[in-house]
Amino acid sequence: MSHATSDLLAPFPRVSLCHQPTALEFMPRITTALGGPKLWVKRDDCTGLATGGNKTRKLEFLIAAAIEAGADMVVTQGAVQSNHVRQTAAAACKFGLGCHALLERRVPDRADSYEQTGNVLFDHLFGASIEYRPSGLDMNAEAIAVTEKLNASGRKAYFIPGGGSNEIGALGYVACAGEILQQSADQGLDLGWIVMATGSAGTQAGLVAGLHAAGSDVPVMGVSVRQAHDIQVKNVHGLAVKTAATLTDTPLPVEKIIVDDGYVGAGYGLPTEGTLAAIELFARQEGLLFDPVYSGKGLDGLINMVKQGFFDDAKDVVFLHTGGAAALFAYEAQLAAMG
Ligand SMILES: *Cc1c(COP(=O)(O)O)cnc(C)c1O
Repeated sequence: MSHATSDLLAPFPRVSLCHQPTALEFMPRITTALGGPKLWVKRDDCTGLATGGNKTRKLEFLIAAAIEAGADMVVTQGAVQSNHVRQTAAAACKFGLGCHALLERRVPDRADSYEQTGNVLFDHLFGASIEYRPSGLDMNAEAIAVTEKLNASGRKAYFIPGGGSNEIGALGYVACAGEILQQSADQGLDLGWIVMATGSAGTQAGLVAGLHAAGSDVPVMGVSVRQAHDIQVKNVHGLAVKTAATLTDTPLPVEKIIVDDGYVGAGYGLPTEGTLAAIELFARQEGLLFDPVYSGKGLDGLINMVKQGFFDDAKDVVFLHTGGAAALFAYEAQLAAMG
């Protein structure tokens, strides 16, 4: 498929990991149930690698960079139930690289199974070596220190930041921006908004940079899963500017970074009642699986914004489904309690 961003991405080293384009599907039942604009879902939960998710697109560029650097292994970090670490471990296997992961015990008061099931189960299946850290450290600094130690001992380790969120990984979402624009044109959407969950910032930064470089003014609403508004805007904008600078000379104004921090609840990895209700609603209306850490909070935002009339001027709204269902197993008790 040719689209608005494929020429821009041609110069960058890239491996193939992702089933793409991912589908853009209409959600008729939830559209009727909520009574707002037409709601569509961009199925990046189906990127094809190890139960899918948004990190797969980023890893196409990050793994290529690791191979270019002559690496024999990658080092990365995330929370215990990190979807990024799971996808990185799988991608490393596919290219014969080792994977070492630092997992931060970021989420308080977890059930015993939290460090065994879900993404952690898959990390082990992919043969990743794992070490744990307490919460509150600078985890990228920790992982860089481990990378340097490995390299001093003769390994060729390549550091991939948490969430794959740097200007290399964000290129994966420049590609996604091109897909959404092309599919919207092909499927006859009058695209008013794109809504998504935002965490380590690379997905929103890449998406906004890609739309910007393609000359599109479609706004992106990032529903924060962790940080307060001003911090998240700063994080996303900083990375979007760096990413856009590799694609276009046109400056990317901070006004293009839109964040709502009203759905974080008690903190990262802690679903609210709204998060869990959103997951259940979309499961029962559309047969879709969303997750309690990221996409469920994003959906909670989407539902409330539709109900409040925020999108009333829009005909079509796309929710970017970033994946994460592998983590549902680590939240079994909370989900079961919903009945
Ligand atoms: C990592 C992740 C996000 C957030 O993407 P960032 O690039 O870190 O902002 C959203 N949803 C899921 C399921 C994720 O794993």
